Amino acid sequence: MNKLGEKIDAYREAGIVLERAIREGEKLVKPGLPVLDLCEAVESRILNEGAQLAFPCNVSINEIAAHYTSPPEDATLIPEHAIVKIDAGAHVDGYIVDKAVSVATTQDLKDLVHVAERALKKALEAVKPGVRVSLIGETIESTIKSSGFRPIINLSGHQIKRYQLHAGKNIPNVNMRTLLSRVKPGEVYAIEPFVTDGVGVVVAAKDAYIYRVLEPSLLPKQLADLLKKYNSLPFTTRWIKGIDRLRLEKLLSYLTRKGILASYPVLVEKSHGMVAQFETTIIITEDSYLAF
Ligand code: MN
Ligand code: MN
Repeated sequence: MNKLGEKIDAYREAGIVLERAIREGEKLVKPGLPVLDLCEAVESRILNEGAQLAFPCNVSINEIAAHYTSPPEDATLIPEHAIVKIDAGAHVDGYIVDKAVSVATTQDLKDLVHVAERALKKALEAVKPGVRVSLIGETIESTIKSSGFRPIINLSGHQIKRYQLHAGKNIPNVNMRTLLSRVKPGEVYAIEPFVTDGVGVVVAAKDAYIYRVLEPSLLPKQLADLLKKYNSLPFTTRWIKGIDRLRLEKLLSYLTRKGILASYPVLVEKSHGMVAQFETTIIITEDSYLAF
């Protein structure tokens, strides 16, 4: 088989495993469920099916748009009135698939969830080789605005490369006319519309549970050994065993300040609007695209 064929097989495998893991997570969602149980269920399903974790399972609820994953011993429960976003990633041999779904626990929140799902569907209809990323953004924006909600302007889809979750080009969730880039055959993208009933902007909270190594050679030896297997992909404090929790948190924030690690703070909708998101990963082909 040729190289492209092998690469597509790896993406397919990662996509199938991830789809099953997220579906399993989706079925568990109900008020009162510990968020920690949900994160662990999705992650262990990915690992048990033979793929690797591309990043910690994000479970972001209500006005939290992204980057929440349970810290160790997290006591957070899914509330009665909730939009639960499950955003997870699996990889096979470094070929990463990134997907997300949203689940509403009450009827009044289902509109927002449906609009996010429809925005992703419409965005995919606009995808073809050579199309400008701004046109995909325009499609997402108009789908969302015609339903009376707003897209989140400072969150976007992204190109994916081997062992690189955010690589190169972005797919905006609004019509960014200044973005002249186009999608090309062989490129892989995650498309992820975020919909809100708030103002449509996210801001970083104080807390961060997700990190990534930027300078492996500058890590203290103990941590270097523990983090080696994540390569340059994101990891979370919950995955690191054998270091006292407070000490670990201090160490990670010190290393972030030094530029040795990058942190991903929890992102919250600025006006505390509810947020829904759907995401899928695709590869652009010569005449269309394949979804994983
Ligand atoms: Mn994602
Ligand atoms: Mn993504």
